[in-house]
Amino acid sequence: KLYNMVQDLKGNIRVYCRIRPPFNEETKNVIDYIGDDGSLVILDPSKPQKDGRKVFQFNRMFGPTATQDEVFKDTQPLIRSVMDGYNVCIFAYGQTGSGKTHTMSGPSGGSIKDVGINYLALEDLFEISSRRKDIINYDIHVQMVEIYNEQVRDLLVEDSSTTKYPFYIFSSTSDKYFQAIRSCASENGLSLPDATMHSVKSTADVLHLMKLGGVNRVVSSTAINNRSSRSHSVVTVHIHGKDISGNILRSCLHLIDLAGSERVDKSEVTGDRLKEAQYINKSLSCLGDVITALAQKNSHIPYRNSKLTLLLQDSLGGHAKTLMFAHVSPEGDSFGETVSTLKFAQRVS
Ligand code: ADP
Ligand code: MG
Repeated sequence: KLYNMVQDLKGNIRVYCRIRPPFNEETKNVIDYIGDDGSLVILDPSKPQKDGRKVFQFNRMFGPTATQDEVFKDTQPLIRSVMDGYNVCIFAYGQTGSGKTHTMSGPSGGSIKDVGINYLALEDLFEISSRRKDIINYDIHVQMVEIYNEQVRDLLVEDSSTTKYPFYIFSSTSDKYFQAIRSCASENGLSLPDATMHSVKSTADVLHLMKLGGVNRVVSSTAINNRSSRSHSVVTVHIHGKDISGNILRSCLHLIDLAGSERVDKSEVTGDRLKEAQYINKSLSCLGDVITALAQKNSHIPYRNSKLTLLLQDSLGGHAKTLMFAHVSPEGDSFGETVSTLKFAQRVS
């Protein structure tokens, strides 16, 4: 309890770090110390012990043995606040293979065991909805889009075989695009005007949609191998509540699995691969700029520099709550990327 109070004093942006288990126990592990207070010490494998020590501090640390339920438990109060009218954004940041999709969706292959935050969050929201049903009536809707090379695509189109792929909602940064987002946001609190909206009433509905979104994401990846690691996926949960006196409450929960943050060696890639890398760098650094500006309470917040921050504009800042998971691998050969992820996360907290 005290822990939550301390967090509230720190404002509405918090950063958790999660370290996935090592794939190969033989590899050199860079983790030196994980503290209950959110501290982390890592060791540079190329340096003698104490020269290579780097110390970081987060709101919460999850080591390789942390379970999905443990991670969810520390995220639950934040998620629940969406039922009281707060907008909430949860981001998974980190290099490809560090566990972002594991935290948000669950293990690869989509088994029902070890499901991630997306599913557990919806399950919890349904429970609150039913518990409060005598005083407030909630409607819950879900959208899911993918942002790839600054283009936004609906992932919940039922019959993808009849839809021309890629089915882009917005493909340019024209004025029309900005207007569509702005007018929609002010009229009904929705920030993704053209993406299909799906009513969900049970966890079965949620599983169905997540499967559909997953399939549609894979359809597009045949053209460019493993494209999912180079696009952001955004699941948006819209809450509409009406209490017995007719008061209306609207809020959104965004669950975002970001593109891999690994730096690409410009001398090694060209063409499409280079373009992708540049788009990813740009949108991730824009996200960092926005969160940093919010944390510093700057008067100008640069939302317009990327599609991601533009879409999330109404759910970042103000009374909105933001949580970023910094995902890292424990292996020595990822040390460079690990440091860069931890520095990014430290910068926004
Ligand atoms: P990313 O989405 O960041 O590219 P993934 O979530 O796909 O990474 O994780 C890479 C692999 O590691 C997957 O097979 C995943 O199931 C596994 N993995 C990641 N995090 C964990 C964890 N905390 N516990 C067990 N397995 C994990
Ligand atoms: Mg992934």
